Order: sequence, then structure tokens, then C-alpha cells
Amino acid sequence: MNLIFIGAPGAGKGTQAELVEKEYKIPAISTGQIIREAVREGSELGKQAKSYMEGGGLVPDEVVINIIKERLTHADCQNGFILDGFPRTVPQAQALDKMGVRIDKVVDLETDDAMIEARLSGRRVCDKCGASYHVTGRPPKQDGICDRCGAALAIRHDDEPEVVRNRLKTYHTQTEPLKQYYEAQGKLYTVQSQEKVDDTTALVRKALES
Ligand code: AMP
Repeated sequence: MNLIFIGAPGAGKGTQAELVEKEYKIPAISTGQIIREAVREGSELGKQAKSYMEGGGLVPDEVVINIIKERLTHADCQNGFILDGFPRTVPQAQALDKMGVRIDKVVDLETDDAMIEARLSGRRVCDKCGASYHVTGRPPKQDGICDRCGAALAIRHDDEPEVVRNRLKTYHTQTEPLKQYYEAQGKLYTVQSQEKVDDTTALVRKALES
């Protein structure tokens, strides 16, 4: 199954994608995670992307399109994949279509902006493997330590309140039009993001099995 997860920052895309990855045994591909790694390594891609990401804006379409084009050639995508955070603009979605990549379902995780700031202020991420936690909603077993790989957890720079407001603005203007794009293709499944992760997962599962 080839899936796309869209939704505002903090809607739970990454968390749900990770759970679906385990259940369906298909890789969850996060462009945000790939870009953060590149910034940390100081690679050419990282240098190009850093300022956009830190301000809460989007990295240029051609840069992320090339990342995805390359990533989808990996052998682990043979039985399907979950795109978490790509596409984020209509031109990115058109690029996927042009590449001939078949998309089966697009899960749209709906939230309201008020919920987002509270969620993101408690988010902690593992820089090493990308796992995501929340201090109250989804705490790690050991404070500040990643359950999956044992590395230290950190607060993302772009989870600062001012950057979050920019990211939300970017989402509403540039990413939300994707809902119409995929609705027109009959692929959009809207899921209301719930307070509890498990409750959202149940709704996501229902959408994927429908
Ligand atoms: P995320 O981890 O998905 O919230 O992404 C973090 C940041 O990476 C975003 O705020 C953007 O600056 C950048 N980014 C991730 N995916 C994309 C994309 N598909 N298009 C443009 N920028 C992206």
C-alpha cells in the first residue's frame, strides 16, 4: 500500500506513520527527518535547507522532490511506503503523479490550531532515529532517553512558539490545498486527530481498512 499522511505540524503524522510502519511492514519516509539529518551533518542539502526550516517555511519544491525521487528507489519501498510530510504543496503532488508513483490513500489528520501549540511545546524527539515523544501524552520509558535507540531526546528548534505560528501559516496557505487535490482523485480519508494516540490510531486503521 502506498500512503501519504498530511496534516498540520503536530497533528500526529509522524507518530501514526511510525505505528503504521510497524503494522504494515512498509517504511515511513519523513522528508523533515531526512532534512534534519542533512542539516546536522552539514551536507550540501543541509546547507540549502537550513534557513527555510529554521524559519518555519518550506524547503524549495525541487530540493524535496529530488530527495523523494531518490528515496523511493530503495529496495524497502517495493511493497509500499508511507510518505510523512511529503507532498506539502500542490506542485510536489503533481511531481509525484508525473513520476508515475501510484498513491492508494491519503490520510488527512485534522486538528485545530489551538491544540497544536500545546502539543508541540511538549514534544521531544530523538535526533538519532527520529522517534517522537510527548512529555505527558507519550512519554519515553526513561525520562529524556529514546526507547528505541537509547539516545538523548531533544526539543526541536522549530517547535519554538514563534516558529510554530509560521509553520501553521505555511500549512494553511501551501499544504491545505492538497486536500482538494486528493479529494478530486477520490483518495482522501479524513481522520480527526484525538487527544489519545491510540484513539487516533484506531481511526487511522479504520480508514486504511475501508
Ligand atoms: P516536519 O518534520 O515534517 O515537520 O518537517 C520539518 C521542516 O522540514 C518543515 O517545516 C520544512 O521546513 C521542511 N520540510 C519537510 N518536508 C517538506 C516538504 N515536503 N516540502 C518542503 N519542506 C519540507
